[in-house]
Amino acid sequence: MSENLAIAAYLGATILFILSLGGLSNPETARRGNLFGMIGMGIAVLATVLGPRVDLVHGLPLIVGALAVGGGIGVYAARTVQMTQMPELVALMHSLVGLAACLVGFASYVDTSTVLEGAEKSIHLVEIYVGILIGAMTFSGSVIAFGKLSGKIGGKPLLLPARHWLNLFALLAVSWFGVQFVGAGSIDAGMTPLLIMTAIALLFGIHMVMAIGGADMPVVVSMLNSYSGWAAAATGFMLANDLLIVTGALVGSSGAILSYIMCRAMNRNFISVIAGGFGGGAPAAAGAATPGEPQGEAVAVSASETAELLRSAKQVIIVPGYGMAVAQAQHTVFEITKWLRAQGVNVRFGIHPVAGRMPGHMNVLLAEAKVPYDIVLEMDEINDDFPSTDVAMVIGANDIVNPAAEDDPTSPIAGMPVLQVWKAKTSIVMKRSMASGYAGVDNPLFYRDNNRMLFGDAKKMLDEVLVALKS
Ligand code: NDP
Repeated sequence: MSENLAIAAYLGATILFILSLGGLSNPETARRGNLFGMIGMGIAVLATVLGPRVDLVHGLPLIVGALAVGGGIGVYAARTVQMTQMPELVALMHSLVGLAACLVGFASYVDTSTVLEGAEKSIHLVEIYVGILIGAMTFSGSVIAFGKLSGKIGGKPLLLPARHWLNLFALLAVSWFGVQFVGAGSIDAGMTPLLIMTAIALLFGIHMVMAIGGADMPVVVSMLNSYSGWAAAATGFMLANDLLIVTGALVGSSGAILSYIMCRAMNRNFISVIAGGFGGGAPAAAGAATPGEPQGEAVAVSASETAELLRSAKQVIIVPGYGMAVAQAQHTVFEITKWLRAQGVNVRFGIHPVAGRMPGHMNVLLAEAKVPYDIVLEMDEINDDFPSTDVAMVIGANDIVNPAAEDDPTSPIAGMPVLQVWKAKTSIVMKRSMASGYAGVDNPLFYRDNNRMLFGDAKKMLDEVLVALKS
């Protein structure tokens, strides 16, 4: 393939990636967006493999081998991974982008096939240094995020004494070693500062994510998404590949915008999230009195009582959370919704921006169950409607409906906007126990006079509710 044809193919792929991002911003166009992305990536891979910079005669077995191994792992992961494991998988993929940037960085440093001089050489060395720096941080940070999201590492933030000083020291050390690296006379001399910086960046990535409390994980996930984009862009600079630069910048900036949206949804300042420590306050013992919160009994109801409450309601709001994903209850939720709507009940869904374990988690599940988009509303669109709602049905959600976020300034999640289900005439919380949610914070909603608890696996209980409704 000629250079010009490869450039034209890259341009086409770039346009498809932009269209893909545009499509993914709306559930109705998301499928098309995905398709554009897949076609774009197919074109990009083909144009690179068949392009003028790849020696197919010698490289073909390697390329075919890499494509078979990478593609095989991708297909296997996509087929076997559970919906609840998606956030971990995404974190793992971010770590691979970071690792690739590091490896490409070291490879381009030791590659002597092109000899650069003067300013061009210095710029190339800076590209390598920054690429490895971002890549190493992304790699180790994403591995820790994977551990936290899969529950292998606890959600409690690790707060080292003088951690801000440690971070500052790391920044100064990285800058100093950067100057040593660029000024080094030979590859051997430059390797030492490069390796030391890599070690510091790896430790920094670990420290950065370990210091972040459970409730702030949504911001970390989107931030690592952004970092992986910048790592890819840095790889693009090292390899002088325009498509990688553009694609990396697209991912990097859309991840940054997502982090901003997540911070706003949680009423948090981006810098203080990165500084860490939020969401780590000791959770009150289950049932303990929270300041300003009347202590009461959690009242349990049965599936048939729940069905009765729903049957006599005119306005119902369903609030899904992580437990709905665990139980895979979305299809039964929609069956109940259809039944109630057929009886003239106005059923709508209230979606919190950080519900579940990844951005858009609930929207994906509800779309999969074919719930119409026009009854799925964002938190800001529906929060004022709870006072005129008869039943607010919370399905496997906890932190996102915790009134302590509004009432208790000492709560670790104080200030985070939540869905005000307690303002409905009756709220029903469906979960297996009185256990706390991801942030590890006790939930005073459970003890409110107008709240009922429907204990059990969400899918099993909803099946029973559906049977009771139909009988
Ligand atoms: P939570 O984690 O706060 O609560 C989920 C609840 O679901 C648990 O209390 C659990 O209670 C219940 N549950 C679990 N399994 C089942 C089941 N099979 N049937 C019924 N209930 C079940 O989830 P929310 O969605 O309310 O809030 C999301 C939390 O996750 C927030 O703290 C957010 O910051 C964090 N987070 C969000 C990310 C995102 O991008 N959206 C990323 C990372 C973290 P029990 O054990 O008693 O059943």
